[in-house]
Amino acid sequence: MKKTDVLIIGTGLAGLFTALNIDKNLKVCIISKTKIEYSNSVLAQGGIACEYNDDDKLHQEHINDTLKAGSYLNDKKAVEFLVENAYESVKKLISFGVQFDIGEDNKFLVTKEGGHSSRRIFHSGGDATGKNVTSTLIAELMSRDNITFLSETMAVNLITENDIAIGMICLNEFEKYQKIFAKKIVIATGGIGSVYNATTNDLLATGDGIGIAYRKEVKISHMEFIQFHPTAFYDENSHSRQRFLITEALRGEGAKLINVEEERFMKKYSPDLMELAPRDIVSQAIFREMYDTWTDHVYLDTRHLDAKFLKERFPTIFNYLKEHGLILGVDLIPVSPCEHFLCGGIETNLNAKTTIKNLYAVGETANSGVHGANRLASNSLLECLVFAKSASDDINKTIHANHIIKDIELNNNDSYKYNYKPIRKKIGDYMDEHVSIVRDEAGLKLSLKTIQKIINNLKKYPNITKNYYETLNLATTAYLITKQALEREESIGCHYRID
Ligand SMILES: Cc1cc2nc3c(=O)[nH]c(=O)nc-3n(C[C@H](O)[C@H](O)[C@H](O)COP(=O)(O)OP(=O)(O)OC[C@H]3O[C@@H](n4cnc5c(N)ncnc54)[C@H](O)[C@@H]3O)c2cc1C
Repeated sequence: MKKTDVLIIGTGLAGLFTALNIDKNLKVCIISKTKIEYSNSVLAQGGIACEYNDDDKLHQEHINDTLKAGSYLNDKKAVEFLVENAYESVKKLISFGVQFDIGEDNKFLVTKEGGHSSRRIFHSGGDATGKNVTSTLIAELMSRDNITFLSETMAVNLITENDIAIGMICLNEFEKYQKIFAKKIVIATGGIGSVYNATTNDLLATGDGIGIAYRKEVKISHMEFIQFHPTAFYDENSHSRQRFLITEALRGEGAKLINVEEERFMKKYSPDLMELAPRDIVSQAIFREMYDTWTDHVYLDTRHLDAKFLKERFPTIFNYLKEHGLILGVDLIPVSPCEHFLCGGIETNLNAKTTIKNLYAVGETANSGVHGANRLASNSLLECLVFAKSASDDINKTIHANHIIKDIELNNNDSYKYNYKPIRKKIGDYMDEHVSIVRDEAGLKLSLKTIQKIINNLKKYPNITKNYYETLNLATTAYLITKQALEREESIGCHYRID
């Protein structure tokens, strides 16, 4: 048994920034189910949305853009909180040594993405924002005496006493149970991409935080709002479920979308915003175009842009495409939508508190209320920062309360070899077919019934392995997305019902 003051589950931006803001006199244990450096945060290309000033008018515009993208289903207070704390958050990143891109005039280079009314996206290393930010924060945390990292350690079940979170059951590197008791616990487990057969996420995104919370009846909401990114690279020769993302910032710099008949189609769907309409609109438009032209992709057209500029501005994308035989600025880039981001999740308040005492949720796994029915581009890294800070402020203030430890008996023997791949594939197939960009009641009901059966079977044959728990969490997440999609009968934001 291990004891710590604060236990943080996840080493993405949300977990790291929470740890950084915890009082240095408190002991913090931060765990990651694979390597510390692996997360979705590392993959973030576009950047962080932030009005880096005290200008109320510009702040209000960022608030308005966020509300509009979320179809006004956002929690307005949470959105205001997000935008008002953006300046301080980015300043803090800079103070830790993060280097955002700067132009020749010594001013920050900011870009534009879909749904933003002005250029306000901070980026680092061109399109390597996530990598640069997380590596800087990990280095800072490594230098602190109060921080312990545990890699290859997977949280599987929350320990509670009288509805108060007191610890976490984990599986260590040898897949044996390990109990970690803590005064405060923060779930920062990220997204759910692996629920679908194609995603831009790292495949470690199996909705573990959602599964853990659900098993303890923590409130989970807005799961039906899954954002499908319009422009994942379409590679017909690849069998990988993880798809390479082509950032929206490329469209922000002028890239156009054309269908296989080389028609620029966004004028039919969003004549004012065109390619920079919010993601739900662009993904649904591409879906329609693929249907109408009998294909499974459209193209990003950058042929009218300066290839030298593109190479410098988007080095990661440039090099990736080059390895796949395509030159940015010269060739048409095949793209299609796939799962990208969970807008809902574990319900939290402005202090990132969940419905269970001493349990917090931060980052993509949380429904902080900022995204509503669809996330505005580059608001998620910002959400990680702002709510990680408010969670740690609350933890620093309230941690001195008495701490209960009520040990529990665990049996390490119930493990056996089993191949969960077919079950995972089946979940992905049903989600792709019935709970994707376009949904209807019959498909949702069919999917719900199948997934419920899978969950029942998994529960009948428990297995103390990481693979078992991941599969159970995938099934639980799929169940919640489908159930909440069935309950929401209207089409709004990323949730599109055709019936
Ligand atoms: C390709 C891509 C590009 C993106 N670009 C942008 C962008 O430009 N701007 C933007 O704002 N957003 C972007 N996003 C979204 C954004 O990156 C994520 O929403 C955000 O990074 C999530 O951060 P997080 O800390 O919540 O989770 P993550 O960064 O995913 O970290 C999750 C962590 O939890 C750990 N974990 C998970 N389950 C367990 C468990 N059971 N036990 C222990 N540890 C566990 C993982 O190992 C990992 O360390 C992008 C996403 C992708 C996939």
